Amino acid sequence: MEYTSTRDDTLRVSASEAIVKGLAPDGGLFVPAEFPRVSPEAFYGLTYPQTAEKILRLFLTDYDPAFLKTAVEQAYGADRFSGKAGFLAHVEERLWSLELWHGPTCAFKDYALQLMPKLFVEAKKNLGDTGTTKILVATSGDTGKAALAGYAGLPGIRIAVFYPDAGTSEVQRLQMATQEGENVAVYAVRGNFDDTQTGVKRVFADLALAERLAQKNERLSSANSINWGRLVPQIIYYFYSYAQLVAQNGVAAGDAVDYCIPTGNFGDILAGYYAKRMGLPVGRLICASNRNNVLTEFLATGRYDVRRPFYKTESPSMDILVSSNLERLLYHTTQDAAAVAAWMAQLTQDGFYTLPEDVLSQIREIFLGACADDAQGREEIRVRFAQNSYLCDTHTAVAFCAARTAMPTTASPCVVFSTASPYKFPCAVLGALGEEGAVDEFDAMQRLMKKTNVPVPESLASLREKDVRFTDVIGKNEIPQIAFSL
Ligand SMILES: *Cc1c(COP(=O)(O)O)cnc(C)c1O
Repeated sequence: MEYTSTRDDTLRVSASEAIVKGLAPDGGLFVPAEFPRVSPEAFYGLTYPQTAEKILRLFLTDYDPAFLKTAVEQAYGADRFSGKAGFLAHVEERLWSLELWHGPTCAFKDYALQLMPKLFVEAKKNLGDTGTTKILVATSGDTGKAALAGYAGLPGIRIAVFYPDAGTSEVQRLQMATQEGENVAVYAVRGNFDDTQTGVKRVFADLALAERLAQKNERLSSANSINWGRLVPQIIYYFYSYAQLVAQNGVAAGDAVDYCIPTGNFGDILAGYYAKRMGLPVGRLICASNRNNVLTEFLATGRYDVRRPFYKTESPSMDILVSSNLERLLYHTTQDAAAVAAWMAQLTQDGFYTLPEDVLSQIREIFLGACADDAQGREEIRVRFAQNSYLCDTHTAVAFCAARTAMPTTASPCVVFSTASPYKFPCAVLGALGEEGAVDEFDAMQRLMKKTNVPVPESLASLREKDVRFTDVIGKNEIPQIAFSL
């Protein structure tokens, strides 16, 4: 299997190269040059690691199959994800929740970040790269911890995570500050997330620094969600959940299932498009957005327009205006790299682009957009708990709202992706259930547990007792020196 770029499809690279490089030299994203076809039945009755192995072998053809088998066992084996990798909960008639938050950091990003670091280290080996890779991550919360947990202890890797001082929740800060491992470092950066991100981006663009690092046989890399190594693990749970749905008689084998995904950077939902192109009977992919509803508007009108206010919401991991992975969908739909490059250039220059009618209608055959604001999300949390005894977080709530909007238009069963544990956002969830006035997030966790009897994940409950290892607060101008000496 070879990979090409969304902006120049004469390019050809291996999976290992795509994963180590992250971004194509022309600024485009790496995509598979073709879609492997599989039969959904081939996945019935498989465990999660077996499903993972089958999918990865189709895409990572230059990897040693024995390595892949070990890697998926280490990432998703029976003792990982609390034994609940790909756990599908029945919520009500025709509606399921795929709980993707049973991993070490309680958000769905663990599925990619428990595996991708291993794929990265192996790719370096495949390419004969013996240097040290320094991973720099700017995070507003969730990605930082998931990346730390994934890269901690890996050979040839050092990782530094930067987050805005006072910009994360207390739980998120403690999750990062208590991270163990000798190859990890965590810094609070004075200012907001933009300051942090600008500081890190400047380091990646610093050619003189890259040269000084190269002399030590060191290279910088990022762990962000446009890397193919983060996308491919997300295809797995579409196949796994479909097989489970068939086994639970939720759908007749071969019939279509809709998926509804709380969306930010468009990675998780795009993986569903890949699953569909590979032969899984995916019906509609429902793209759920919060008040930052660029994608809802885009799917309705064909105009992608970021000239709008940015809202901070109670589903912060979806607070995004530029959904990078959408570029991959545009390429697959049009097969026209020059057109994609032109739209992306226009987006950077003018802040918008508009798709031709025929391209939009192809996309709309599969994708449906819907959005919900914080008040609608809170109401959804309340109603789900009251009616279905089902407790969900603020991101999942947005998806439940979107699913309800979309369901009357389709007759298929629907799987909503539940992307974070309700205990990651305990104040908002507790508030939605009508209880205000928690002293802090730990108090909110305790009260939420008392009210709902849903257990607090061990990794969050134990946070208060763990040693805080990282307390440095830095200015963004110190990031280059940290990157050098890391
Ligand atoms: C990252 C994230 C999302 C958005 O996923 P994308 O792949 O970026 O669209 C949704 N919910 C949670 C909890 C997340 O952490």
